[in-house]
Amino acid sequence: MKNVEIVRIFHEIAYLIQIAENDPNTVYKVRAYEKAADVIENLTVGLEEIYLKNGVQGLRKIPSIGNAISLKIEEFIKSHKIDYHQELTTKIPLKISEFYNMRGIGPKTIKILYEKLKITSISDLEKAASEGRIAKLNGFSKMKEKNILRTIQLSKKNKTRYLLGDVYPLIKKIESRLTTEDSVIRCAVVGSFRRMKETMGDIDILVSTKEPEKVVNFFVNMPEVEEIKGKGKAKAFVELSNGIGVDLLVVPEESFGSASQYFTGNKDHNISLRNLAISIGLHLNEWGLFTKKKKQIAGDDEQEIYEKLHLDYIPPELRENCGEIEYFSNNQKERLDLIDYGDLKGDLHTHSEKTDGTMSIKDMALQARKKFGLDYIAITDHTKSLRLANGLNENQLLDQINKIQELNDVINEYSTDSRFRILSSAEVNILKDGTLDIVKHVLDKLDIVGASIHSNFSLSKDIQTERLTKAAKNPNIDILFHPTGRIINKREGYSIDVEKILNTACETRTVLEINSSYNRLDLRDEHIRLAVQNGVKLAINSDAHHPVHFAYLLFGIGQARRGWAKKIDIINTLKVDTLLKELK
Ligand SMILES: [Zn+2]
Ligand SMILES: [Zn+2]
Repeated sequence: MKNVEIVRIFHEIAYLIQIAENDPNTVYKVRAYEKAADVIENLTVGLEEIYLKNGVQGLRKIPSIGNAISLKIEEFIKSHKIDYHQELTTKIPLKISEFYNMRGIGPKTIKILYEKLKITSISDLEKAASEGRIAKLNGFSKMKEKNILRTIQLSKKNKTRYLLGDVYPLIKKIESRLTTEDSVIRCAVVGSFRRMKETMGDIDILVSTKEPEKVVNFFVNMPEVEEIKGKGKAKAFVELSNGIGVDLLVVPEESFGSASQYFTGNKDHNISLRNLAISIGLHLNEWGLFTKKKKQIAGDDEQEIYEKLHLDYIPPELRENCGEIEYFSNNQKERLDLIDYGDLKGDLHTHSEKTDGTMSIKDMALQARKKFGLDYIAITDHTKSLRLANGLNENQLLDQINKIQELNDVINEYSTDSRFRILSSAEVNILKDGTLDIVKHVLDKLDIVGASIHSNFSLSKDIQTERLTKAAKNPNIDILFHPTGRIINKREGYSIDVEKILNTACETRTVLEINSSYNRLDLRDEHIRLAVQNGVKLAINSDAHHPVHFAYLLFGIGQARRGWAKKIDIINTLKVDTLLKELK
């Protein structure tokens, strides 16, 4: 049995309870299943292993796994099904997997649509919406119906685009496996993956080897390969079990650099580079850089290609033909000190089990230090108006401030190296009118205050912009979290005038977040670039709800690099004392 199977079932139960049961207390039950699913998803050991060793008692030792849930897990281990789950799916024959990733079409909406219109699938939903049947229901409107259709269109359009963070660990594993294979000389994953683009259609891998057939055979026989779509002497195309297609191309060692260049840059970057070569009497293709007489003058080393074209090395994330070729020409005076992958000293957006996180503040801090080398984190639990996430009220926040003070001593007690610092903070909810749900004198006591929007997504552009600029003008707010609210492939951001918000952020010295959750990446690359050009400071945060999520910082940094952010643009590259002085 795999942990992911039970995670899926628990999510389905949580979803179906909301449709099947009318009891107001179901919200607690839903939370229990969702929390359990989150915790299990992040476990590094198999549930079955725990159960075989220590039985139900062992399961109950896992955080957020109570009596009832542990018995459900036992039932699944023994019989490979859970009766309660089967009862629910029989009672409500919904195609849940189609629905539960649809932002803005939650279980509450589906409950009504199921009861009134017998809608059980996305195609039912699309049909009803395009026939205007949904707008006629009580509590619905033409606007809501239009939004439903838009969400469906968006999810269809993006179906074949994979999120970088979803494929990253697996592709890295394949890359390192190929790299260490004896017959492989060099291996590189190229394409949009190397450019750290937020989504991608497929993956391109290059290898150089003296034994192409051996490498191709090794590649197509990897355990993750679901189907071999094509196979030649020096190339192969496969589909992995997660659905993504991977192209393997064997190139000669003397062309490895030029092929890496050719398959990494986007089309326009490559065209510009080829034209640049022509303008100085050279010829560039995937096999190398050549003189008019077809003599190869560069090819095995990617950096050398750029050098011979009188350019500094252009980082892969920037190869989008957005001015990088002009900027990196040798006669450009100012060097670009781009934010780098090891530059972050802290994380200013993390959650604990006090709200919707899954670990204690202490565990979050210890792991941030030990596993991710950070020097500080801010605990930014949700606030009271976000009831679903168990948001904290003023008194609970004050308690948490005290607790964090004590914890700062506890966690540093045995440490000989520099002090780790937990900052007291909150992800304060911005209300519909742009005010906050926590009173000023409590906010004054926090080390740092983040604020974000979690409701009223469909306000008009003017009102939404006003709401955010009002928040930015609030002297208490240091950082605006996930400023545009987009969820990649699922929800476009709320409609706002980004430039207006950047101007206000600059004037009021409000920091904007680059949220590293790979389904958010908010701000996105183009907005980051605008922010940087406007002198707005940024913070790259994980929004971790569990310590493993600190790994997402990588994606935020990738996005920041794509937005040309320099190290000095990112405030959490600073030491904690300097950081606190810099805040407004
Ligand atoms: Zn949030
Ligand atoms: Zn958050």
